[in-house]
Amino acid sequence: MFTQNLGYPRIGGNRELKKAVEAYWSKKISQSDLQQAAQQIRLHNWQLQKDAGIDLIPSNDFSLYDQMLDMCLTVSAIPHRFHPLIEDKKLSETDLYFAMARGFQSDGFDITAMEMTKWFDTNYHYIVPEFYENQSFNFLSNKIVNDYKEAKQAGIETKPVIIGALTFLLLGKEKETEFNRLDLLKNLLPVYKEILKQLSDLNVQYVQFDEPILATNLSNTELTALSAIYTELKSAFPNIKFVLANYFECYGENLSTVLGLPFDIIHLDLVRCPSQLDDIIASEKVSSQTIFSLGVIDGRNIWKNDYEKSLAIINKAINHFGKERLMLAPSCSLLHTPCDLDSEKKLDDELKNWLSFAKQKINELAELSKIVDNAPEANELLEKNKAAIASRKNSTRIHKGAVKNRVKNITDKDAERQSIFAERQAKQHALFNLPLFPTTTIGSFPQTTDVRKLRAQLKKGEISETEYTQALQAATIETIRLQEELDIDVLVHGEFERNDMVEYFGENIDGYAFSNFGWVQSYGSRCVKPPIIYGDIERKNPITVEWSSFAQSQTKRLMKGMLTGPITMLQWSFVRDDQPRSETAFQLAWAIRDEVVDLEKAGIKIIQIDEPAIREGLPLRKENWQTYLAWAVKAFKIAASGVQDETQIHTHMCYSEFNDIIQSIADMDADVITIETSRSQMELLDAFVQFNYPNEIGPGVYDIHSPRVPTVEEMEALLEKALAVIPAKNLWVNPDCGLKTRGWNETKKALENMVNAAKQLRVKIEVEA
Ligand code: GLN
Ligand code: ZN
Repeated sequence: MFTQNLGYPRIGGNRELKKAVEAYWSKKISQSDLQQAAQQIRLHNWQLQKDAGIDLIPSNDFSLYDQMLDMCLTVSAIPHRFHPLIEDKKLSETDLYFAMARGFQSDGFDITAMEMTKWFDTNYHYIVPEFYENQSFNFLSNKIVNDYKEAKQAGIETKPVIIGALTFLLLGKEKETEFNRLDLLKNLLPVYKEILKQLSDLNVQYVQFDEPILATNLSNTELTALSAIYTELKSAFPNIKFVLANYFECYGENLSTVLGLPFDIIHLDLVRCPSQLDDIIASEKVSSQTIFSLGVIDGRNIWKNDYEKSLAIINKAINHFGKERLMLAPSCSLLHTPCDLDSEKKLDDELKNWLSFAKQKINELAELSKIVDNAPEANELLEKNKAAIASRKNSTRIHKGAVKNRVKNITDKDAERQSIFAERQAKQHALFNLPLFPTTTIGSFPQTTDVRKLRAQLKKGEISETEYTQALQAATIETIRLQEELDIDVLVHGEFERNDMVEYFGENIDGYAFSNFGWVQSYGSRCVKPPIIYGDIERKNPITVEWSSFAQSQTKRLMKGMLTGPITMLQWSFVRDDQPRSETAFQLAWAIRDEVVDLEKAGIKIIQIDEPAIREGLPLRKENWQTYLAWAVKAFKIAASGVQDETQIHTHMCYSEFNDIIQSIADMDADVITIETSRSQMELLDAFVQFNYPNEIGPGVYDIHSPRVPTVEEMEALLEKALAVIPAKNLWVNPDCGLKTRGWNETKKALENMVNAAKQLRVKIEVEA
């Protein structure tokens, strides 16, 4: 049976891309070294897919930073502020590309980076295109063409992948004036045509258009635009086979439009939305020419495919359409899965036998195809798979009665604080005696190579546990002193003992497993290694109490305890697929609640439960929002509600598009929330014009994703903007996220400016009062 892949991880099995890109940034390697490293990854990926026997192998799925940023360069959607870098500075395409991603602060330039946000409901971040009214486009970077040629030269025929015009425009933002981004189509489509022309001249047979925006609710105008785009492009290039890739959700009400368009192949994510196969079978609009790509292998998770289950779906489709009108695929690009399970040393054999990473998924694709085709080895492949699936279903490592009961017996009271916020606030203010606009940070301080080296040394046995702890204590004390010198009001211990905010907790909780090389790209060169939740969740011992108590013992100021919340633990892990996500979330909530209570007992008065991932957990389709928000908010509240009124619960969230879920954020009832806003210039605050957010809040006053040091005036101006909609007594001052990825130098300067901004504002407000 015909097989296609939609995209392969680009980071390399050993994070070769990260290493090369960062070495290039720090001028340790040349641009051609970088290009060479990138090429090696591409060639490796293509070859691997070819060897496995995949029929349609993607190209241009590789990116040095992000595929949306690639698209910006391809069509020359370069924000105005970067133009001097082309005209005066004459930057190379690669350097301009990185400048757009990261900002450009040198040689007298001070240009802020483009905004970045989550790619649908993943933990991957894309660069948000910026559009201007009547903007013109031209075919600038020909990466898509070069990549195709490169593969071809290596003897591999590929299917170029391109972000579709609708998704590209709709995921962008208007700048300077308000206008309809769809109006830009008339300028944009000619560039798509030019691209397709060049590909067609090279005899490219298939092009994959990624239009995941189809997984969301679209307006009629947007659907009309979709029709216009593909009718026009296909009629210009009838010889190219158009592959439409939508993933992460159903086509939903967009399906009937899609079925009426001249796509040769329509991809279905049957993992996230199995029911759409029935919709298509039942639909009268399906053209007899259309081929369906059955996305049966989960591109978002790491579980071994259950062949029997997949075969049931595939056979149903074959019965209706016939094998010739079908192909097999992963549900989405494999970008969201780690590279290769074979590299794993840490996972035990039993667990490993339940898992599958990108390379294995490619293999599953090939195996399923062989089974469908009744190849000689079909039976053996199927039996082997059945045995692995059965061993997971029956394992006693997974199921724990006591944990399940605790979730079953949750009462309303478990999810409520003792008193309402106003009463808690009065008690907390009296107790803490903080100044107006208290300053704090989000938790982590720069994790320099020194600190990370310690962890590596400990792992290798080069230093003892005691030496490791002592070195981290020294780093913690130094950070505490620094915060005191900077005159920050509520301190943090710096999180030096944590490799990662989820992994650190997962390592100390039963039901979690960890890989050595299970990295997936988060943004640019940043990768994360999501832990694997495979069984019922149980916290046996306190996790953070020792570090938090140590830190508090080093200062008279208030020290925040620092925890990761249940939804983030869920969202940033690979989650078991054998029970509802809500069930796993409640199990995690109990574990975190036990930790919160233990911190309170140890004398920690402020406890932050980070939930940076709560928004990204939001289902892509609005009709599913309320269900998710109800259980997500409840899980947070279970975690937060075991304490006295006097204990102040903070939460922190990343990324700014909260406006549509602000009610649920209020419902979480955290005493203080710190939140990202600065990359989008406090756009978030618009929500507060309509909505009286009841509790305390710290809208981030500077962007920690860039090394740029903001001025006192800038931050003060942002705070004043915030004061227009947030009562002074509720306003906190903080960066917009943890400082882990920053250097010390810029961190110190930026925090100094931040504290000064708060102080100036205090003076101003007192004068006015
Ligand atoms: N407390 C964490 C830190 O400061 C929060 C990180 C996050 O929001 N992603 O690193
Ligand atoms: Zn954050």
